[in-house]
Amino acid sequence: MSYTPHENRYGCMKYRRCGRSGLQLPAISLGLWHNFGDVDDYTNGRKVILKAFDSGITHFDLANNYGPPYGSAERNFGKVLREDLSAYRDQLIISTKAGYDMWPGPYGNRGSRKYLLASLDQSLERMGLPYVDIFYSHRPDPDTPLEETMGALAHAVHSGKALYAGISNYPADTARRAFGILRELGAPCLIHQPKYSLLERWVEDGLMDLLEAEGVGCIAFSPLAQGMLTGKYLKGIPEGSRAQRADGALQAENITPETLEKIIRWNRVAVERGQTLAQLAISWLLKDLRVTSVLIGARTVGQLEENLRAQDAPAFTAEELLAMQL
Ligand code: NDP
Repeated sequence: MSYTPHENRYGCMKYRRCGRSGLQLPAISLGLWHNFGDVDDYTNGRKVILKAFDSGITHFDLANNYGPPYGSAERNFGKVLREDLSAYRDQLIISTKAGYDMWPGPYGNRGSRKYLLASLDQSLERMGLPYVDIFYSHRPDPDTPLEETMGALAHAVHSGKALYAGISNYPADTARRAFGILRELGAPCLIHQPKYSLLERWVEDGLMDLLEAEGVGCIAFSPLAQGMLTGKYLKGIPEGSRAQRADGALQAENITPETLEKIIRWNRVAVERGQTLAQLAISWLLKDLRVTSVLIGARTVGQLEENLRAQDAPAFTAEELLAMQL
């Protein structure tokens, strides 16, 4: 079935400037870590991607090893690009990363120039693209000089294989050094991608202030704590959920009684505000304008639709914010 995008898609979404760059990102972006591998249903994944684009989501986030198997999310996304979205490439921001385990041997993991640049070439090949918009170092590597890892990102930008450089999972002190090196190399860091949600607030301890001062954007990953910050685990572990699947990164043990107590408490706030817990979790992140984009995952079109409505949320009262403390 041929695809024609929704005409009013840009009216459905708010866009935020990424740090002090010229690039705007949608307030909500879609990540393809889970749900788009060869183990998943391609037709369903395609529907989710196209629904996202129809809703004004211009940014799709990938990494070399998303699947499973590794590489398959990029291949499947490449197929959607080729068959449905090829006419809209200039309306899309596509990111990929390298830094975690990808192929055997000493050159398929961590932060060397050898690994990052070979991996980027492989990602481009799988997606059928001449360049990505953002190329990330997926995590800091204490065994590789930061100058080498940042040098690889800058080379990716200067060679035209990436438009912007990004870093992910870097603590504030390493991030500060990385920003300085990238600036010197003429490829300033566009964006940092940290884990940030109601349950994981480490970025508030210095990183957000640093990003603001440096003019670097922030895209918050796992904003729903992989599904824990939705209504789905309030009454056990449902069939097909990430905590129930053998290939899911969320383990049933992660849903501890202490976590459940918080989820139940925050769910009460959500109900009082007329939101679902998922919507509350997303709008809580978006209240900070330094958060450029909230990077959600979605297994179904229904989940995506529910999450997108987080944008319509009323502002938080002081009382609500107090009730949402950890
Ligand atoms: P989320 O925290 O948004 O979790 C997404 C999952 O939550 C869905 O797959 C679904 O799981 C469940 N869910 C989503 N919406 C709903 C809803 N409305 N109702 C019920 N359940 C819902 O994000 P992810 O953990 O998937 O991460 C998002 C993206 O962030 C990734 O795709 C990736 O791009 C990026 N990321 C980056 C990392 C990094 O190191 N840089 C690490 C991890 C992620 P279910 O199957 O249970 O239905």
